[in-house]
Amino acid sequence: MKEIYLDNNATTKVDELVFEEMRPYFCDLYGNPSSMHFFGGQVQKKVDEARARVASLLGALPDEIVFTACGTESDNAAIRSALEVFPEKRHIITTRVEHPAVLTQCRNLSRRGYRVTELNVDGEGQLDLKELEAALDDDTAIVSIMYANNETGVIFPVEEAAKMVKAKGAIFHTDAVQAVGKIPLNMAESAIDLLSISGHKLHAPKGVGVLYVRRGTPFRPLLVGGHQERGRRAGTENTASIIAMGKACELAQKHMDDENTRVLAMRDRLQAELTAAIPNTRINGGGTSRLPNTLSIAMEFVEGEGVLLLLSEKGICASSGSACTSGSLEPSHVLRAMGVPFTCAHGSIRFSLSRFTTDEEIDAVVRELPPIIRRLREMSPFGREFLDKK
Ligand code: PLP
Repeated sequence: MKEIYLDNNATTKVDELVFEEMRPYFCDLYGNPSSMHFFGGQVQKKVDEARARVASLLGALPDEIVFTACGTESDNAAIRSALEVFPEKRHIITTRVEHPAVLTQCRNLSRRGYRVTELNVDGEGQLDLKELEAALDDDTAIVSIMYANNETGVIFPVEEAAKMVKAKGAIFHTDAVQAVGKIPLNMAESAIDLLSISGHKLHAPKGVGVLYVRRGTPFRPLLVGGHQERGRRAGTENTASIIAMGKACELAQKHMDDENTRVLAMRDRLQAELTAAIPNTRINGGGTSRLPNTLSIAMEFVEGEGVLLLLSEKGICASSGSACTSGSLEPSHVLRAMGVPFTCAHGSIRFSLSRFTTDEEIDAVVRELPPIIRRLREMSPFGREFLDKK
């Protein structure tokens, strides 16, 4: 069975052009970029090229790009760095809907004596910047607010937030793992100090990430040892994956307009056709700005896990929350923070598209999902009651 892959916020296919770019750096060009000889030097050149490609996608300078092992490492490094830069400051601000890569770390730090403010979101999953303004004080070391949410695709006003935070003298970090490659970013005109990226969300392999560190932002490394990454991240570089990341960023830049038009049109068609065919649905975050590729649809009186299994039997891959929180039957922390009613939160499914998604795949979901929902509603007492009333 050929898969219909609509779970691109969990991970993406490695673009074949990306794979071709990285392939020689395993068995042929395996030199260490730190070596003095020509063999290492040619790899160093490709790493530099990759750095320039990532910088170009972000509108950043090449020396502001630090390669890491994943988005989680970038998030951890950003927060740890700020706390070391300002040892006297004990306050951290984040939001209730961050990815666990930020939230778990903040909660661990709160157990170690840091004061952590988790900003609320409204019913659409959107932030109120007045709450941020009220929370900021002279004790705030870092504010970490994600650029776009992995479950709903909701885009936060991070540029405005960054300006407010800078005015208070704190460091501003954003987890842009879901945003980079999907919407344009320009660090040259931004107040963001630190920004996290993950390779496997933009058609590069798993196990490579980036932390953007604005020139002049004080920074303390999480990993210490060798002088790699100009002392900002020790450890011999994952050269093949770094080179892949550079190529993936180059392709993302090239395809950005396409993502914003073709992918958005497919997502909007999926949304319109599913809401027309399935009664009692709501779109999580549908009333605010969202990533063009993400659709989180809540369907009353069904269990998300049941829907996923039946979709999976038809070859359709989606997700019932974030990839990292599925597996537990609790509604996700994001939907809970939004106050999505329990009956809807349980039946929330996320479809996330990519530039490889086709119209035929969207047709398949529109054909297969409505009968699955009807069947599951017929099987549940609440669902039957609801169907009887209609
Ligand atoms: N931040 C967000 C918003 C994510 O969606 C993810 C992955 O799902 C991460 C961070 C973690 O990235 P990685 O898997 O590269 O550690």
